[in-house]
Amino acid sequence: MRQVHIVLLMTILSASGMAQTRKTENIIIVTLDGMRWQEVFGGIDSAIMVNRRYTHDSAGAARYWGSDMLERRKKLFPFFWNTIAAQGQLYGNRNIGSNVDNANPYKFSYPGYNEIFTGYPDSAVNSNDKIYNKNTNVLEFINKEKNYKGKIAVFATWDAYPYILNAPRSGIYVNADYDTLQFHNENLKLINDIQFLDPRNTGERPDLLTYIAAREYVKAYKPKILYIAFDETDDYAHAGEYNHYLNSAHAEDGMIADLWKMIQLMPQYRDKTTLIVTCDHGRGDKIKDQWKSHGQDIADAGHIWIAVMGPDTPPFGEVKPSETLFQKQLAPTIAALLGLHFVPDHGNAAIISTIFP
Ligand SMILES: [Zn+2]
Repeated sequence: MRQVHIVLLMTILSASGMAQTRKTENIIIVTLDGMRWQEVFGGIDSAIMVNRRYTHDSAGAARYWGSDMLERRKKLFPFFWNTIAAQGQLYGNRNIGSNVDNANPYKFSYPGYNEIFTGYPDSAVNSNDKIYNKNTNVLEFINKEKNYKGKIAVFATWDAYPYILNAPRSGIYVNADYDTLQFHNENLKLINDIQFLDPRNTGERPDLLTYIAAREYVKAYKPKILYIAFDETDDYAHAGEYNHYLNSAHAEDGMIADLWKMIQLMPQYRDKTTLIVTCDHGRGDKIKDQWKSHGQDIADAGHIWIAVMGPDTPPFGEVKPSETLFQKQLAPTIAALLGLHFVPDHGNAAIISTIFP
């Protein structure tokens, strides 16, 4: 039904010559590392929830429980289901036949982020090693445009980001892990103090600090392209800590809501900003214990999801595309939203036409 709806609407739009003028001037991208589509669209997983090996705090997990799946997903991801679902689009609910996949066969982080940003599932990018990426990414492509030069910032929890996005070559600002925030700004200086005194329990900067650093940077320096790369969902899933995995996902939904609310009060961003939220890879599910893991040996770990909202994206809610979408399509779609045409170094990827008709 939804499919018919979209095709009809797009036919009407093009037949009437009413193709809207592009409104996006800023883009915010957020990734939740290894966040499963199963929880994004279905809420807390009842089988993992009752397994004491993974869920150590049943009362804590119960706050995400509800009588049906729609209620459960809203409790876990309130911003996704109250705001993005109403004003934007969500892809990847395989329960309704909406498929988004990794095109790369590796189903882990560096190959996934490479695919998102370079539009090319490179077989040479097949490890998480800190090697500078040879492929041109869409952020560095955008940074070559006069209007965007120096107006792109990346805040990441994982310290591989300067390599994934090849910060020395691309020239974009990448602040990763416990990188010092070298700014003459009192709030950013305070974040430095907090991160240096942080106990480093996960071995990485907490996602909350990555977020607050990004938020304060937006207030002070107003980048046109902002990318926030969270990591805790993957860390806690590997550790088999289902409560922490859910709590981080829920908190990150709240951080996205907080950022969206803030930018609505800023004239540079209001009604001119597209938000894209996605992940690098999925995790196992068919064999339930594999929810902790991902990679080439786990068949369903290549199943991912995308959420989008912005002034150029029709509010279709959950979308069921006629064909499987791939992660590599995000790079040209990000460029197209700014009126730019990004061609990957190798291969080919079409834009996701329902996001930007
Ligand atoms: Zn992982």
